[in-house]
Amino acid sequence: MAYTELRLVCGDCMGSFAFASGEQGARTIDGSDVRPSRCPACHSSRERLRAARAIAPVTVSRRRY
Ligand SMILES: [Zn+2]
Repeated sequence: MAYTELRLVCGDCMGSFAFASGEQGARTIDGSDVRPSRCPACHSSRERLRAARAIAPVTVSRRRY
């Protein structure tokens, strides 16, 4: 199987990064962006930021339990 490798430019650090098409399936299942606009480093740091933000207002917006 051949992987289609995409060359994307990170929207945060403007660095180019490779994105294999094999990862796209995982992203789609994840429910988030299919084609990331950020490099893995910026993406993970953003995920941490989002997770940190999600903890704070969770009492009002989401009732999970
Ligand atoms: Zn980046």
